[in-house]
Amino acid sequence: MRIDVATLFPEMFESLKCGVIGKAIERGLISVNAVNIREYTADKHGKCDDTPFGGGAGMVMTPQPIHDTIRALDPDRSALRIYMSPKGKTLDQATVLRLAKCERLLILCGNYEGVDQRVIDEDIDEEISIGDYVLTGGELPAMVLINACARYVKGVLGSEQSTDEESFSDGLLEYPQYTRPREYLGREVPEVLLSGDHAAIAKWRREKQLEITRERRPDLLEKK
Ligand code: SAM
Repeated sequence: MRIDVATLFPEMFESLKCGVIGKAIERGLISVNAVNIREYTADKHGKCDDTPFGGGAGMVMTPQPIHDTIRALDPDRSALRIYMSPKGKTLDQATVLRLAKCERLLILCGNYEGVDQRVIDEDIDEEISIGDYVLTGGELPAMVLINACARYVKGVLGSEQSTDEESFSDGLLEYPQYTRPREYLGREVPEVLLSGDHAAIAKWRREKQLEITRERRPDLLEKK
């Protein structure tokens, strides 16, 4: 999977070189190419933002540098182009699975008050939000999206990690997990998990999944 990112802060994407995603990049399973929009500005002072027409606080990112960055990264329009935006559709598991199947994504990160609407209308296929709150820029949302999708690219997660039995994989939240020691701060690991009885363990886990989902996310149970 190839992911291009149009951003004013490409250095933020260096942090993707850590952990599981970093290994996947090293192994060539995914590539993340963060490009500085400022390199494409026609403004001789390197400006990429201006005051909003109609007045109001803050600055808006100008369309020309963004349009030219996107055109340079994806001249034949073969990538799915996403703008990270609080006004977009909220990211969920179904969207992650759909995007993880794409060979190419191009992600635009906004800053300041956002980007000129004409570049969204002209160049963007989808707007995606990571939740109902506003961040200062689209870089962290883009990294959330990249991380979530990369986990579903074949070979990224080792055999010891799996997406089969985790929250949202079957529409429910995950059961509680325990590891050594068997007793910690006076709290015992549930006996059934030490029993070796796989059917009883599976039953206990299913019951816990339903209990936790009913308690915390009844909306998921309704959907299911
Ligand atoms: N003025 C915009 C509004 O009210 O919708 C908010 C702009 S925000 C300060 C700057 C940039 O951060 C946005 O252009 C977007 O790229 C990114 N951003 C902020 N919150 C986000 C969220 N919840 N999901 C995705 N991107 C977000």
